[in-house]
Amino acid sequence: MNYVPRFKTQFGLVLSGLLLAASASLHAQQAAAPAAPAAAKPKAEFQWLGQAGWRIVSPTGKLIVIDPWIKGGPKAPKEYKDDLKAIGAIDVLLVTHAHGDHLGDAPELAKLNNTKLYGPADMVTPLTLLGAIPPELGHRFNKSGTVKPAGIKVTAVQAEHSSLIVWPDANGKPQAHAAGEPVGFIIELENGTKIWHMGDTGLFGDMKFIADHYKPDIVMVPIGGNFTMGPEDAAFALKTWIKPKMVIPMHYGSNPMTPGTLAEFEAAMKGSNIKIVPFTEGQKQSL
Ligand SMILES: [Zn+2]
Repeated sequence: MNYVPRFKTQFGLVLSGLLLAASASLHAQQAAAPAAPAAAKPKAEFQWLGQAGWRIVSPTGKLIVIDPWIKGGPKAPKEYKDDLKAIGAIDVLLVTHAHGDHLGDAPELAKLNNTKLYGPADMVTPLTLLGAIPPELGHRFNKSGTVKPAGIKVTAVQAEHSSLIVWPDANGKPQAHAAGEPVGFIIELENGTKIWHMGDTGLFGDMKFIADHYKPDIVMVPIGGNFTMGPEDAAFALKTWIKPKMVIPMHYGSNPMTPGTLAEFEAAMKGSNIKIVPFTEGQKQSL
């Protein structure tokens, strides 16, 4: 209505008055309407598959699977180890990097569900060249790249780690192949909740930048040490830089090479008001 005061004619003044009156009446009606009760934010169901593996049912029922190390994963739920189909029809399949405890059964799950495997560009390329997945089932993206499979917004972010594919050659002999750089994911659910799955990572200063820029609500953080941050470095990053509402510790307890424990992490987080949400392998919690 900015144009109305520019009219200098009597007609313009009358029109302006009518519009103001109509606007005032509308505001009165809005003020009189009872306030709708605030609806509870719909939740997502999280299930830990062990290590960095997660099965998440989004608020509208989309099935998201991240880093599924199932058949070889010592702590993966038995019903999934017995039958990968029991995981359900996967809508969004994400892999942070090519190490066996993350790539895991993702190629098989992509083929089983005829769903694309989303991962770092230079991991997906060798997977297709090696015949692990057909080219049409691989989606290459990279840091700051955003994809939206099944309407779920996923952005790849930095992780400070390494990546290597070990895949059998024609004689069944394992061969190592370069697999680009690892990533973490910022996953935005339909209810606006943002999850930062950090993948495998050591401590790096731009964790603060990622937190400031993407503002994650829930952070899934590796605490096992040896290959990644241990309990103290993870707690330092969370308390000093990231400051999310909730943290879910992961990447511990499945491998003697990741000695960090939940108790050590909880002790290192003492004094923080960040809510720690621990899982046992296979457990489901709605958040
Ligand atoms: Zn790794």
